[in-house]
Amino acid sequence: MRVGKTGSSFFAFVLTGTLLFLNLMTVRAQTKATESNPGTPTRVIIRCGTLIDGKADRPMKDVRIVVEGDKITGLDQPRGAAPEGTGAEVIDLSNETCLPGLIDTHTHVLLQGDITAADYDEQLLKQSPEYRTILGTVNARRALEYGFTSIRDLETEGAGYADVDVRNAINRDVIPGPRMQVATRALDVTGAYPLLGYAPNVPVPHGVQVVDGADAARKAVREQIMYGADWIKVYSDRNYRVRPDGVLDDIPTFTLDELRAIVDEAHRERHKVASHAMALYGVHNSVEAGVDTIEHGNYIADEDLKTMAAKGIYYVPTIFVGAYVAQGRASEGAPVWVQMLKIHEDTFRRALKAGVKIAFGTDAGGFAWTVDPAKEFDYMVKWGMMPMQAIRSATSVAAILLGMQEKLGTIEPGKLADIVAVPGDPLSEITTLEKVNFVMKGGRVYKKP
Ligand SMILES: [Zn+2]
Repeated sequence: MRVGKTGSSFFAFVLTGTLLFLNLMTVRAQTKATESNPGTPTRVIIRCGTLIDGKADRPMKDVRIVVEGDKITGLDQPRGAAPEGTGAEVIDLSNETCLPGLIDTHTHVLLQGDITAADYDEQLLKQSPEYRTILGTVNARRALEYGFTSIRDLETEGAGYADVDVRNAINRDVIPGPRMQVATRALDVTGAYPLLGYAPNVPVPHGVQVVDGADAARKAVREQIMYGADWIKVYSDRNYRVRPDGVLDDIPTFTLDELRAIVDEAHRERHKVASHAMALYGVHNSVEAGVDTIEHGNYIADEDLKTMAAKGIYYVPTIFVGAYVAQGRASEGAPVWVQMLKIHEDTFRRALKAGVKIAFGTDAGGFAWTVDPAKEFDYMVKWGMMPMQAIRSATSVAAILLGMQEKLGTIEPGKLADIVAVPGDPLSEITTLEKVNFVMKGGRVYKKP
């Protein structure tokens, strides 16, 4: 069943109405943002009490960021009250810490939390892709307001190619939201991904595009890229259990041959592959096949960590979501989710020691979007990361993962003006990052203290 391809004219009708409404809201937001600076925005000067630029080891005090149009054009530390120049709008954040716009490299804007199987089934069976897209536009706006100016959205969970439309609507300035790289439908094999457990004579939608065999997998990659996928997402394992020796065991989904075909086809078309791999074989096969990022990685063998470090494969640990769903899934009869937390912590600490590149990613959508995904930072620091390192994982490191390091990830002249601020010092209290009260994306202000 091709979810998202049915009733497309009705979809277009509903979506047009929704977008018109949201568009009006955006225009109002824009007017509000620029009302102190009528006419063409020329120069904006942001005075930051402290600046964490995403690159340097230490913060800087009393910094002035000059923004012209959508770019940062200057950065200095003036002594005293330096003249701001004529025609410049001044944004006073002298009691705040400024940082590069945050980047979440693992989200699902089309999902509203799925602690239990029932939560998930309900969304796929009782909510139309059109309705889910409307909710997705709200989530995109929430992401931006939490301070995430860029996200990598790793599949729509049965909502077809709706992420492509959300991304395009943001790029075309129809709705507010972060810059998005999207993975569309994701890939898994027959019998491995929900919806599952229904009678054979009842056709149900799936949260992925189901493919079997290397040729079918290649065709699906081509199809998803044709319809707008930036990334290819694969599910590499399922059915987790803890072995007596403490290793988290799984059933690999794709054969190595299939995974290699997927990676080869994606790379041939200059696209990258994100692999959902939580345990031993899923991670090992993914690393062998040469994927670009490992998602979740609750257990990763030392040998595979070594290969990841050597090949530059990113680890996107998504810690918070595991803690968030553990109790719910345990009470549903899967206590392994509680056991996995301890294993995950051990893996995270070993990955840090092994020098694996770790990028910030939360799986937002796996938990409700009313919860700030920045809660992930607290777990990263509790599990051994330095606060500055955790901030880099969500700025300069994540920008490289997206292949956008020339434009994003640091505050320096020439980069896009994606700047956020928090009232306090995230280096001494990392949860301050859950209090973003200033958001600028591409030179435009979306939130002000
Ligand atoms: Zn996910």
